[in-house]
Amino acid sequence: MLIRVKNLSKVYKNNNDEVYALKNINLEINSGEIFGIIGLSGAGKSTLIRCLNRLEEPTEGKISIDDIEITNLNKKDLRNIRSEIGMIFQHFNLLSSKNVYENIAFPLELEGKNKKEINERVETLLKYVDLEDKKLSYPSHLSGGQKQRVAIARALANNPKLLLSDEGTSALDPKTTKSILQLLNKIRKEFGLTIVLITHQMEVIKDICDRVAIIEDGEIIELDTVGKVFANP
Ligand code: ADP
Ligand code: ADP
Repeated sequence: MLIRVKNLSKVYKNNNDEVYALKNINLEINSGEIFGIIGLSGAGKSTLIRCLNRLEEPTEGKISIDDIEITNLNKKDLRNIRSEIGMIFQHFNLLSSKNVYENIAFPLELEGKNKKEINERVETLLKYVDLEDKKLSYPSHLSGGQKQRVAIARALANNPKLLLSDEGTSALDPKTTKSILQLLNKIRKEFGLTIVLITHQMEVIKDICDRVAIIEDGEIIELDTVGKVFANP
């Protein structure tokens, strides 16, 4: 998916307090690329990525995904575009009352898929993320890396074209981080997915991103290929 962000601003208003979380962000993310957004805590990374699937309402500016302007969609069109976007989170956000199989099946149930379709898709995904032997386990019995694999499988359930990762590796140790990044890379290659990931970990960007934006106080201060942004001067 091709993403265009134009003059995007986000102001959070609490009582009399105003926080300028994003200030006039402009960027384009190419179809099939892994685009990284890096910055310190509070820089605006989460707000930016949440605007991309309209979990957050921009205050100003426009976002288009494959030439569809998503900042003024009705509920139905917004649902359609969201079904093309998968998201993973730092704390995995799995349903603790559901086992691995059921967690992955859940978005398919919401889409109204029948039992047979669901079963086939979930079994395929379980194989893909290498968790076939864990399908009856509950999240509390999984390691961090396994939980993130479940979350990735769930995010892929509806065949999205765009995968958003909000600090998807920051709760993991370096070795597990590596394996999750390898999985994301494999997903990009095999499905031609566009991946946007935010992180405060430099290694993550260097490992798998094609291009990177550095965000500081709600503004993009650098945007280029990873090689150029992190080249030694
Ligand atoms: P990051 O993901 O880079 O840590 P965030 O996007 O979470 O940054 O936050 C950017 C700024 O917006 C911070 O100053 C943060 O405190 C503020 N912020 C985020 N969410 C809210 C909210 N719901 N209400 C008020 N301020 C918020
Ligand atoms: P049916 O009764 O229509 O054949 P089942 O619900 O028995 O379908 O599911 C068939 C297979 O799907 C099971 O062997 C199992 O692999 C998987 N499955 C279905 N529901 C669950 C679940 N809640 N937890 C784990 N696996 C499930």
